[in-house]
Amino acid sequence: MAEERILEVKNLKKHFNLGKNKVLKAVNDVTFHVNKGETFGLVGESGCGKSTIGRTIIGLYNRTEGDVVFDGENVHELSEKEMFKLRQKMQMIFQDPYASLNPRSTVREVIAEPMEVHKLYKSKKEQTERVYQLLEEVGLNRDHADRYPHEFSGGQRQRIGIARALALNPDFIIADEPISALDVSVQAQVVNLLKELQEEKGLTFLFIAHDLSMVKQISDRIGVMYLGNMVELTVSDSLYENPLHPYTQALLSAIPIPDPDIEETRERIILQGELPSPINPPSGCVFRTRCPFAMEICGQEKPEWQEVEENHFVACHLYNEQVKKDRVKEPVVNIR
Ligand code: SF4
Repeated sequence: MAEERILEVKNLKKHFNLGKNKVLKAVNDVTFHVNKGETFGLVGESGCGKSTIGRTIIGLYNRTEGDVVFDGENVHELSEKEMFKLRQKMQMIFQDPYASLNPRSTVREVIAEPMEVHKLYKSKKEQTERVYQLLEEVGLNRDHADRYPHEFSGGQRQRIGIARALALNPDFIIADEPISALDVSVQAQVVNLLKELQEEKGLTFLFIAHDLSMVKQISDRIGVMYLGNMVELTVSDSLYENPLHPYTQALLSAIPIPDPDIEETRERIILQGELPSPINPPSGCVFRTRCPFAMEICGQEKPEWQEVEENHFVACHLYNEQVKKDRVKEPVVNIR
């Protein structure tokens, strides 16, 4: 069956003007799409631009250049009225459930607010019934409706955040680091809940995270970001079995393996240096200041975004045919 695209992000740039000729290039020419019903994971260290992409997709930030096409509509060319309608289909779950929930509102009010704004139900009774239903769908119950957010644990608060995101029956949810603030034991529960909801409701997710191990649990395809650029994109299994970009290889080598024998003997790539500033990114390949394989060309030319295997895209000179021929060193060894 042909895949249907729900979201297309085309050559997206989001730059922030900081004054005094300083420009922060948070997102720099990023292109990818999300298919209907899938989970697309967006991964990278903090400051790589992944959350800025999420906020630009949903229209919280204006784009600098490029397009965001959702369900056939160019998000940044919509009128306010059209944008209001589109918000019904596209919702966001935030990292810190406590900060994103109004502490003075009861859970009922928090979840009902988007329904009221969009005038979804004719009667209060109908609306309240829907709030109860949503609470049950996220593993809470109707007795929780009249309590306040501070009365809940972190995991429960994230469930409330998810119920609120579901209040308008969206098709697409941007989950921006939804489990980063939670204990490890609770993270898996929230991921499982998201998976169940996806199956039941046919939801599509853009799942933003810095932790590659958890992203694997939920994503069909994964895009890896570094300093405002997408450096690798492929289906989940390929990324873990055959990471091509040196940055992806380093991220994966940092994940502990449960088998102590493998864990003890395997090779780790330790990245040298700090993440450079997006105000003054390195020339050529933005990863070159930390890349163990950097070559002369890496400082001179930005690597092209190319499909090196079916559905496996990478931006790295190591996979450029001419560079491969010229290269004297051995090719990159898969360190997994
Ligand atoms: Fe490393 Fe060069 Fe590839 Fe960049 S282009 S990741 S510096 S080898």
